[in-house]
Amino acid sequence: MPQLIDAKKRGRSLSPHEWHWVVQEFTKGALPDYQMAALLMAVWFRGLSHEELVALTDAMMRSGRTLDLSCVPRPTVDKHSTGGVGDKVSLALAPLVASAGAAVPMISGRGLGHTGGTLDKLASIPGYDVQLSVQRFVEQVCRVGCAITGQSPDMAPADGRIYALRDVTATVDSIPLIAASIMSKKLAAGPTSLVFDVKVGRGAFMQTVGEARTLARTLVSIGVGHGRRCVAVLTDMEQPLGYAVGNALEVHEAVQLLRNAGPPDLRQVTLRLGAEMLVCAGLCATLPEAERVLTGCLESGEALRTFVAMVEAQGGDPHVVDDPSVMGQAPVVREFAASDDGWVARCDARVVGELARWLGAGRTRIEEPVDPRVGLVVWAKVGQRVAKGEPLGQIHAPDEERASAALQSLSEAIVLSDTPSQPRALIIERVVPEGEEGGV
Ligand code: URA
Repeated sequence: MPQLIDAKKRGRSLSPHEWHWVVQEFTKGALPDYQMAALLMAVWFRGLSHEELVALTDAMMRSGRTLDLSCVPRPTVDKHSTGGVGDKVSLALAPLVASAGAAVPMISGRGLGHTGGTLDKLASIPGYDVQLSVQRFVEQVCRVGCAITGQSPDMAPADGRIYALRDVTATVDSIPLIAASIMSKKLAAGPTSLVFDVKVGRGAFMQTVGEARTLARTLVSIGVGHGRRCVAVLTDMEQPLGYAVGNALEVHEAVQLLRNAGPPDLRQVTLRLGAEMLVCAGLCATLPEAERVLTGCLESGEALRTFVAMVEAQGGDPHVVDDPSVMGQAPVVREFAASDDGWVARCDARVVGELARWLGAGRTRIEEPVDPRVGLVVWAKVGQRVAKGEPLGQIHAPDEERASAALQSLSEAIVLSDTPSQPRALIIERVVPEGEEGGV
């Protein structure tokens, strides 16, 4: 191990055999944390070659159970988002894409930092089981076309151990390590195609388009290196996606989208990612054709019916689609209004995400429960003209005290200006495998 650390420190690439050895030994507890931490820090400074990235991801993926989806009679495709505020896309996307003929075996996570997690949102639905056994997961994907569940502890266990070490050794923010971590879990779940939504901006982990592009290229190259069809889309996360931020509120908004309504920005991102999934899965030839198919599934009600089937299959209360109050309601709801006439110049996704977490929608410690009922609804969008007194949002709080404090913070997150400002494009860039056409 000291020789391998020294080699990486000096910028030499380790062989696939060496990476497999390191990951295997570390996972079974035969390597001390301090040696692994030193190697991770060397990677932080030196990066990884493409061959090393594929080998490290492969070793982490093979550290545990991998799913065999060959019995699923449809093309399998999953989507991964790098995390944002108000990002409830997966809730609507999985049933939508399944209703168009693909199978969506989606393994999701809990909230991380100020960003929400799909599992926390689904757990707002009374009875919904977010920890399916592997057998039930695969059976449901075959029967319903989609399932959204948490990662089983025996999938990519090396990632869990390495991530915990990175978290305390300042090595989380390494693009190759982030990419290998994400991909080891996604590849273990076995879909043949993968679409990535790499979020950029204040509310995202990637703050600049340059960083997001590098991460997107890295994710795509690892996927292609493992024989999967992949594409990534960079999307804006300067302001929250849609209006709702908070678990039950976001489920309700995703249902509205499945009813062929919902906020235009959420609809645009969902349709684009869905179209990428159908093209990747080989079910449609072009993105415009795929968007037409998906729009048809929203209009016919087929996407909503697939959502209901997924919720029922996972033990959830299907009445959630007609009556969001089955998820509970926050004790205090307060409205936030514009203090002046003007244009919305900024609605800071990071502040809104932190606020939702502080209200109880997210965690500050791993073991903390989340309150499904609380959060915010923010109607203000950059570039919008507003009049003094016009409602710009709502706070859903656990008590009066928090509601008042949150109103104050929200007034700082939403900045008005005397002159109109232009929001950044929602779909920023498309990243395709090297050598393919169609990237922006
Ligand atoms: N998400 C992951 O799964 N892994 C990382 O390293 C960072 C974000």
